[in-house]
Amino acid sequence: MAKQTDFADKVKKAGQDKGNKCPKCGAVKTPTLLVQSVRSAHGSYRFNRQRVQLCKCNEKEILG
Ligand SMILES: [Zn+2]
Repeated sequence: MAKQTDFADKVKKAGQDKGNKCPKCGAVKTPTLLVQSVRSAHGSYRFNRQRVQLCKCNEKEILG
C-alpha cells in the first residue's frame, strides 16, 4: 500500500512541475543569468546576456 501511494504522489508531482526539472539528474534547474563578452566586427566588446537553466548536468560546461 505504501509503495502505491508513493508512486501516485510522484506522478502527481511530475504533472505539477512544468518542465523545470532535469530529466537526467532529476534536480530542479536553477535559472541563471549568464554574461559573456562578445567581440563585434568593429573590434569592440559588448556583453551578451543570456538566461540559462542550470543543473548538475550542464553547470560544468556552461560555467567552465
Ligand atoms: Zn541535470
